[in-house]
Amino acid sequence: MDTPHKIRAAAVLPLSASNPPSGLSRGKTARMVRLSSKKAHLNKAAEAFFTLPTPNEMRRQIPVSQTSMAVTLRARRAIGEILFGRDRRLLVVAGPCSLHHEASALEYARRFARLAEEVSDRMLLVMRAYLEKPRTTVGWKGLINDPDMDGSCDLARGLPLGRRLLLQITELGVPAATELLEPGTPAYLMDAVSWAAIGARTTESQIHREMASGLPFAVGFKNGTDGGLSSAVNAVAAAGGAHAFPGINPDGRVSVHRTGGNPFCHLVLRGGRRPNYDPVSVEAAGAALRAAGLLPRLMVDCSHGNSRKDHRRQGPIFTELVRRIAAGERAICGLMLESHLLEGRITHRAGAPPPFGISVTDACMGWEETESVIRAGAEALASA
Ligand code: PEP
Ligand code: MN
Repeated sequence: MDTPHKIRAAAVLPLSASNPPSGLSRGKTARMVRLSSKKAHLNKAAEAFFTLPTPNEMRRQIPVSQTSMAVTLRARRAIGEILFGRDRRLLVVAGPCSLHHEASALEYARRFARLAEEVSDRMLLVMRAYLEKPRTTVGWKGLINDPDMDGSCDLARGLPLGRRLLLQITELGVPAATELLEPGTPAYLMDAVSWAAIGARTTESQIHREMASGLPFAVGFKNGTDGGLSSAVNAVAAAGGAHAFPGINPDGRVSVHRTGGNPFCHLVLRGGRRPNYDPVSVEAAGAALRAAGLLPRLMVDCSHGNSRKDHRRQGPIFTELVRRIAAGERAICGLMLESHLLEGRITHRAGAPPPFGISVTDACMGWEETESVIRAGAEALASA
């Protein structure tokens, strides 16, 4: 059988093999074919190609445990029930803007597991385990893309590292939420994911809508960065339908994917030029969903445009939204927080050691505040 390496090579002939550029992986699974620079205007999609293990090979190399599988499946089912209003708990997706450091992520997950257990009567806590970051222009694109955070972009190391991290988190009893960005990655990660976001910058993309239409868990589409709702409402409708599109199958072959539509897609209000978590905006979002023939159920992200990127606003926004939910607000079924062990963020310089417990992307609220607003929120819901 042709390997993906051979298939790609055939599409970009003529070829010349050479060594990988410095900084790129020479790992056993990473083989490369480099195109001659003299052929700059020939049909080619990249300067270099490295083969990766297929999704099935990586799943065999880094298998999912019974515990991880049970945690993931239980949370997927509960999230579906929450979306359809059959489970009255509040879905809370909280955790770092991005994971860049294994030990920090696992320490966060251990604390999160205890808190999740404590509030489990009123809330379903799912940890943000974001491994891919969309950028407005350029920048660090996450642990999978550049695990060494030095521009070497060793995906052959980042992809298994990301998979292992999701499995370690779910092994601790914590269901995982992630953003799905590159169309090739879900096949490597999805058996450890209970909820995913399609980000504000990709919600309008047909490719991401198609991807969501085949996933076996709820997918939240963020409103646009300018605050416009129509791209996300259209995305929820599109991903709810069946699609056919080309992709890579679990055995690494280019294949036609036929999907059946994902009934668990929903809108995530993340603010834009101005916040959109106020009652009038939420009512308008519910009306837009109903007008499109969709269920008026949505999540509110307390960070990003809603916090105007000031992490100190997240706690008060979360508390206000819980109060409104306790008072009978029915459209909001989930809330999102960007939270880490330590408050704020730091600017990471390429090649410097990865910092422990603090965000290198968006500023996050710290653990003490996270714990206190979630505990207080659960109490407010219990006494409603
Ligand atoms: C995020 O969740 O960190 C993020 C990038 O969100 P958005 O797509 O809403 O900007
Ligand atoms: Mn963020």
